[in-house]
Amino acid sequence: MSRTKLAALGLDLPLLPTSTVGSFPKPDDLMEARAKAARNAISRQELDGLERRATEYWVRAQEELGVDVLVDGEQYRGDMVAYFAETMGGFARGGLVRSYGNRYYHKPVIVGEVRWPGPITVDWWRWTQSLTARPVKGMLTGPYTIMDWSFNDHYPDRKAACLALAREVRKELEGLLEAGARIVQIDEPALSVRPDELPFAVEAMHVVVSGLPAYYIVHACFGAFETIYPGLLDLPVDNLDLAISHSALDLLAMFEKDPFTKDLSLGVLDVHTHAVEAADDVRTRIRRGTTVLPPERIWVDPDCGLKTRTVEESRAKLGAMMSAVRAARAELG
Ligand SMILES: [Zn+2]
Repeated sequence: MSRTKLAALGLDLPLLPTSTVGSFPKPDDLMEARAKAARNAISRQELDGLERRATEYWVRAQEELGVDVLVDGEQYRGDMVAYFAETMGGFARGGLVRSYGNRYYHKPVIVGEVRWPGPITVDWWRWTQSLTARPVKGMLTGPYTIMDWSFNDHYPDRKAACLALAREVRKELEGLLEAGARIVQIDEPALSVRPDELPFAVEAMHVVVSGLPAYYIVHACFGAFETIYPGLLDLPVDNLDLAISHSALDLLAMFEKDPFTKDLSLGVLDVHTHAVEAADDVRTRIRRGTTVLPPERIWVDPDCGLKTRTVEESRAKLGAMMSAVRAARAELG
């Protein structure tokens, strides 16, 4: 089904298409420049030049590794929610809070009607796509996660905030599709935070994508998927990208009970460890996936964004993933 959709969009991808979840580590000079920019010690132009250089580095790296569907690497973003909130109208910057792991970010506060300010990521997408013949994914943070990771001082409840955000995220999506994006990933790591809210998270996704032609991937990492499965399958998207490098067996059991009806991006690299996976271990994870679903419905990628790893670790992990995929493709014929 979804291979047909990909073909209709003019996308000819190999068996077990490979991609990454979005972020790559930033080089040291860019990290220093971001710190300086935060205290207005360098110009926006200088920072932009470094962001572009780092983006181009990652485009070439993905091409050299042989990844099929590229990302821009998010060299210009900090936190995935704060990046959008700080750009959109209706938000104020809140105090520092701790999110998962050891990461702190300024939790945004919704203080008025949320408002799309004009293209946010579109120029980055267009420029990145101009660097390569391979398809580049559009990358958005979903309305449910933006809502969940913000304080709401304006809307009557979480659902109202979520649906208002969905209407604005849709405008950014329209911009990406007008620019030519055919594959769009929408990050919703918060999806399983409150299982009783899944119905309005699904409704919000309808608001975002309904009637807009693209191949859609929803990325949901570190979730208690068993609490929102099989309801998760109601999301109006083509592909669910689930972090399963640690939980393949649980998912297997879940999918045996309630069949998985979409394409699956199989997260096969653990992004939270320095250790580089052996290609054979990754091959085993892919094999588990292909025992549950037909290989035509499986994509392969890391569990999450690689931004917390070093440049070398990221390249080595992706190298192992690509070797395993090549072996799997040869075996599957
Ligand atoms: Zn993730």
